[in-house]
Amino acid sequence: MVKDIDWANIGFSYTKTDYRFISDYKNGKWDEGRLSEDAVIRLDESAGVLQYAQTCFEGLKAYRTVDGHVVCFRPDLNAKRMADSCARLEMPIFPEDKFVDAVKQVVKANLEFVPPYGTGASLYLRPYMFASSNVIGVKPAQEYQFRIFATPVGPYFKGGAKPISVKISDFDRAAPHGTGHIKAGLNYAMSLHAIVQAHNEGFNENFYLDSATRTKIEETGGANIIFVTKDNKVVTPKSNTILPSITRRSLMYVAEHYLGLKAEEREVYLEELKDFEECALCGTAAVLSPVGRIYDHGKEILLPSGMEKMGEVTQKLYDTLTGIQMGRIEPPEGWIEVIE
Ligand SMILES: *Cc1c(COP(=O)(O)O)cnc(C)c1O
Repeated sequence: MVKDIDWANIGFSYTKTDYRFISDYKNGKWDEGRLSEDAVIRLDESAGVLQYAQTCFEGLKAYRTVDGHVVCFRPDLNAKRMADSCARLEMPIFPEDKFVDAVKQVVKANLEFVPPYGTGASLYLRPYMFASSNVIGVKPAQEYQFRIFATPVGPYFKGGAKPISVKISDFDRAAPHGTGHIKAGLNYAMSLHAIVQAHNEGFNENFYLDSATRTKIEETGGANIIFVTKDNKVVTPKSNTILPSITRRSLMYVAEHYLGLKAEEREVYLEELKDFEECALCGTAAVLSPVGRIYDHGKEILLPSGMEKMGEVTQKLYDTLTGIQMGRIEPPEGWIEVIE
């Protein structure tokens, strides 16, 4: 029933699976949608997505749990977030209940690609929408396509999570009153140059500052940030130009309600970095990636948790959230959508 794939070594890359969900928006409404074996899209040369980047996306995972079920983690929040992205980009909203239903259809149709429990691998789902009809004057397109494909992904960290090095970026990710809070492809297009440069300089990631004052920490190109204070408080930056990570919102809940820690969403100043005990990136792909070193223009900040392993609180957060996702720990109501 499960494909013969070397689950431990597939990495975080694309593998084609059998079925994807497709729905078209035409004449002001969405069609019923369908599953298709065709992974290729044919588009008009002047499609809105190609000319003016009218597109947004989501990302979530399906897991096999300890008791053999296949589940998804909080897909209703992805549906809601995509609706927010679409509203900001003048795209039609794909109904939230239909979004969750389509996620389930894709997982069910590709069950053989859901990795076995205990491998650390999972089935990554990529819902996305794009303008499919032609534009040449700058305006929203008339037609759109919503799709979800699935691809199995390996454990993000082979052989355990080693702390990473990040740099404070000189580039900006999001403008005040811009699109930083939505999951638009355009936010990623303009972060590519910054991440390639950071990699060339030997860093794993960029920490972006608030572009208005450049004094506060926001997030990386594709993950939110959490800090742990010396007195075990979990802190995450507050800003309306940060993408509201579902992993981060879940971790803050776990910190408070499962671990009994204080959890605080507030502005975090660059100057405070030296005072934190632990730091980690959070997002669907890796859950939590510990940060060991932050480079700020000639100054180096070494987190006390070091470069060898996750800090103690980060580890507890990681174990609890993955325990909830894999069915080892009782979830808060509504967090786990059982598919099989
Ligand atoms: C998707 C994304 C995240 C992580 O969100 P999750 O819902 O936790 O996967 C963080 N930052 C940015 C910019 C993102 O696009």
